[in-house]
Amino acid sequence: MRDGVLVALDQPLLVIHGGAGVERASLDAKEEAAARAALEQALRAGHAALMAGQPALDAVTAAITVLEDAPQFNAGRGAVFTHDGRNELDASVMDGATGQAGAVAGVHRVRSPITLARAVMEKSKHVMMVGDGAETFAAEQGIELVDPSWFRTEKRWQQLQKALAEEANAQAAVELPGKAYFGTVGALALDAQGRLAAGTSTGGMTNKRYGRVGDSPVIGAGTWADERCAFSGTGWGEYYLRAAAAYDVCARMKYSGVGVRRAAEAVINETIPAKGGDGGAIALSADGEVAFPFNTEGMYRGWIGADGVPHVAVFAGETLAEP
Ligand code: ASP
Repeated sequence: MRDGVLVALDQPLLVIHGGAGVERASLDAKEEAAARAALEQALRAGHAALMAGQPALDAVTAAITVLEDAPQFNAGRGAVFTHDGRNELDASVMDGATGQAGAVAGVHRVRSPITLARAVMEKSKHVMMVGDGAETFAAEQGIELVDPSWFRTEKRWQQLQKALAEEANAQAAVELPGKAYFGTVGALALDAQGRLAAGTSTGGMTNKRYGRVGDSPVIGAGTWADERCAFSGTGWGEYYLRAAAAYDVCARMKYSGVGVRRAAEAVINETIPAKGGDGGAIALSADGEVAFPFNTEGMYRGWIGADGVPHVAVFAGETLAEP
């Protein structure tokens, strides 16, 4: 497996990603340092929750909330733009201990979509809410709403302009870009009681059309957690949806007994590329094995164990420290 690593750590454990589309050419040293610092901050936030004895779910939402506010990643502030120049945000969360899940899609004003996804899970009878209805629910729940300009960054705006120009040149707008604009964030945690949780938050893909929803808020495609496995994906969402990627990884472990690394490798680096898709993922098993498969130039990724030391990597070929 490419850039996979076995982390046989004592619990608790937190694993995160900040998207699989990172490319050296579009990242200067300052941006890279800021992204690494944000990943470390997210790891510390989740670690603090775990060390305070909070459940895996709290660590997942604590880490993702930090990444949503960090403009370096395509989630919350810094989300990519739609074809129409808007930010449409998606997120989902799943608690492996209870099998409960929550998701939101197409929200424009929710500062922390992962917080809203969790509220859908815990405070409603539903699993998924979209658009205006999801925002009405957010307001009812006292979840922070912001002006849509909160999400805007100049870098993402320029990426949209570039994508629009490329599309105009190609004179064929049949497909979204396969690379370059991923940056979704995700987190997985294993708490001291052995409970797993998973969450994913995204702005989707640059130049996506009105109402497009990718894999990230779809339980079983972009996010999954059960009692033995947790998964969060990042990549070309249409392919992850068609592959039921998140569930497939965990189902392989359940039905054929393969380990998390082999299961994640098969889906991310075999099944999805064979269909023409690309991207990456993080996966974590209840016995503390971690997989970071990806087939792009880089994937923001990291983990933190009981000792509280954050480990972060960005590009392919960079190995994450093992304990
Ligand atoms: N998977 C996300 C989507 O298709 C994009 C990403 O991972 O960056 O919406």
